[in-house]
Amino acid sequence: MFHELGHAMHSILGRTKYQHVAGTRCPQDFSEIPSNLMEYFFSDLRVMRDVIRRTDRPSDKISIESAASLLASRHSFTAIETVQQAAYGLYDLEVHGPIAAPQIASGRLSTTELFHDIMQKAMPHVQRSPNSAFQHRFHHTVQYGAKYFSYLVARASASLIWQQRFQNEPFSRKWGDCWGEVQSHGGGHPPSILLEKILGFRPTEKDLTHALSRESYHLSNLDAVTV
Ligand SMILES: [Zn+2]
Repeated sequence: MFHELGHAMHSILGRTKYQHVAGTRCPQDFSEIPSNLMEYFFSDLRVMRDVIRRTDRPSDKISIESAASLLASRHSFTAIETVQQAAYGLYDLEVHGPIAAPQIASGRLSTTELFHDIMQKAMPHVQRSPNSAFQHRFHHTVQYGAKYFSYLVARASASLIWQQRFQNEPFSRKWGDCWGEVQSHGGGHPPSILLEKILGFRPTEKDLTHALSRESYHLSNLDAVTV
């Protein structure tokens, strides 16, 4: 719900001159940032306990213990998930790329072989059948041809924004206003300029990768006691 609310707010906050670039009508690696950032808000104990209430006793907050075990279970496999997403992104790039695409088109390589090859390199300790064809059920490679990686870019960007601006103070008025202003531009500016407005710098691929690995390390070491 928080994720979709992020998309909705992105559109509601739109103040662009032209409707064609308002809200989520922006490059895909930016359009998933507000929604991913909202997930970080949800995954914060202070925010979660402020929001989750019982309908019959709205003044009661969810107990710390329940909130903590919900968070710990949500993030049990973050590192594996990130590697998996990166491998899917790589498959998407390869299947549309200059080397694999002509081979697939001429029948010299199958998408199943390509997918298996990439997944085995990404996760060598996970046994998988060379004949399983998960890619047939993975519609993103059709809808967003060669752009699936943008999900991970968006998650890394949201992670950076969360870590730098909201982690210490999730209800910060100052950064909340700034983030609202950034979203008001929709696709009216390139993502790098928008990210600079909220971060104070234009993140490089190294910054984004570091943000994800820092987050994975932190989350995979969480349990219900340390959350
Ligand atoms: Zn989304």
